[in-house]
Amino acid sequence: MFEDILNYQRKELDLRKLQRELDNLPSRKVVTDMVALVKELQIKSINLEKEATELKKTYDNLGVELSKLNEKLDEFDKNCVVEEGIASLTKINNSIINFQAKISKLQTKIEDVLKQFDNAKKKVVMAKTKHKEAKLNIEKNESVLIPKIENLKKEIATLRKDINPVLIKKYDELKADNVMPVFVPKIGNSCGGCRIELSSRGLEKLKQNNHIECEHCRRIIINKD
Ligand SMILES: [Zn+2]
Repeated sequence: MFEDILNYQRKELDLRKLQRELDNLPSRKVVTDMVALVKELQIKSINLEKEATELKKTYDNLGVELSKLNEKLDEFDKNCVVEEGIASLTKINNSIINFQAKISKLQTKIEDVLKQFDNAKKKVVMAKTKHKEAKLNIEKNESVLIPKIENLKKEIATLRKDINPVLIKKYDELKADNVMPVFVPKIGNSCGGCRIELSSRGLEKLKQNNHIECEHCRRIIINKD
């Protein structure tokens, strides 16, 4: 009596497994991650671009500062009086030291930005390669899984026609409530679905009717003894 529905249920569980496998291919996560990474790197590049503009401004300002220093040096050449000259030289020397420190700081920042930009570029290339590989892998898996799923669906549709309408109705109801599998064996004296032990009344009823509905999980327990 239950052979047809059990076979039907088995095929449906196989179908569910294949669909899950198709939906949860590890490469799908790789694709999502790589798309997110490229977006993140684009934002990073935009920020680095802004930083580069700021550094260029700093550089231009230092250029102005350098011109002023040159002017001071020219002035010193023209109006050198020994005592005043030493004081002026000390001042100029301090300005040069100060200027050098600023240039050095700017250079470090520029090198850092260039390095970050280069890293971002490399990561984009890597992400695009991984993305492409993952896409190919998905296509490869789909070409195997989708035909299997389609065949199984056809098989299930054919099997469905021959099943007792009362059983298929019960099956559809419970399946709609996410109770799967619907038909389970008795394991020991317990429900094969929720594993809760049956009452002695339940066991007696199962012996008489060959099947009962589990009081706990609503599954149909079949007596195969
Ligand atoms: Zn149960």
